[in-house]
Amino acid sequence: MTTRRRSPVDNRFEYVPCAICGKQNAELFMKGSGLACAVRCRNDGLVYQSPRLKPAIIREQNKTFVRADNLQLFTDYRRAMLRREARAIQQLKPGGRLLDIGCATGTLFEFFNGSGWRLHGLDTSQTGVELAARQYRAEVFCGTLQEAHYPAGSFDVVSVLDTLYYNPWPDRELLEIRHVLKDDGLLALEIPGYAYRMIRERGPLCWLLNGAWVRGFANSSHLYFFSPRTIRRLLNNAGFRIVRVVPEQASMSMGNLGLVLNHLHFAAARLLFHLIGVSIAGKELYLAIKAA
Ligand SMILES: [Zn+2]
Repeated sequence: MTTRRRSPVDNRFEYVPCAICGKQNAELFMKGSGLACAVRCRNDGLVYQSPRLKPAIIREQNKTFVRADNLQLFTDYRRAMLRREARAIQQLKPGGRLLDIGCATGTLFEFFNGSGWRLHGLDTSQTGVELAARQYRAEVFCGTLQEAHYPAGSFDVVSVLDTLYYNPWPDRELLEIRHVLKDDGLLALEIPGYAYRMIRERGPLCWLLNGAWVRGFANSSHLYFFSPRTIRRLLNNAGFRIVRVVPEQASMSMGNLGLVLNHLHFAAARLLFHLIGVSIAGKELYLAIKAA
């Protein structure tokens, strides 16, 4: 069965080609809610949603991604990870012009507050960019990177933290990031850990912690499920070379028991990655530069 042969009856959905090879040669990977499906490309193994909601509908939904009633998701639950990620970035780039794509309320900027940094953020959520501008004096843009039309070579660092898998065209997004980065610029990309998602988001552990057999895959807003192999292919295709991978912690939006397990799991994941280079971490930070 290929995705091409199946036709959706709901015209809000569309079938899409693979973001790595550009082909529609995928097999069913997991059934989501309604029409949404995760499929796996037979050519390169990329797991992605197809069919998925049309980009205009996704864009409309994302406008309210950051709201007055969910600000904790972008502040308290993320602060510890963003602090570590900022440190990892600054070990390679001590200053310059930073663009945070999907900046939400701008929490990352708390850790780039020295005079050596010029702060820029963009997000499709008006609530997010207004808070980022007000709290951190960042120059913000409400919209997508493609719409912002920044000149070539504008930034020393571009960060895309826990955001790329919501983008309908991650391949085009990475090409535009390459365009707006300086030649010696740094890309910081955080994505959910693939092995973690396979264990945590379906099956017995998911049932124990969330009371459901499947969670993330049934959520139609998650468009891509990158693995270490497929994110490397996607980055290489866009002209990037990975220079460092850092295991990161899963989101901390959970109760006390979940939080204890989260910290234990993160400690184990860091140790495992250090010892054998295999990641079971909740998130992974990829630091990449322009390939020669
Ligand atoms: Zn493919």
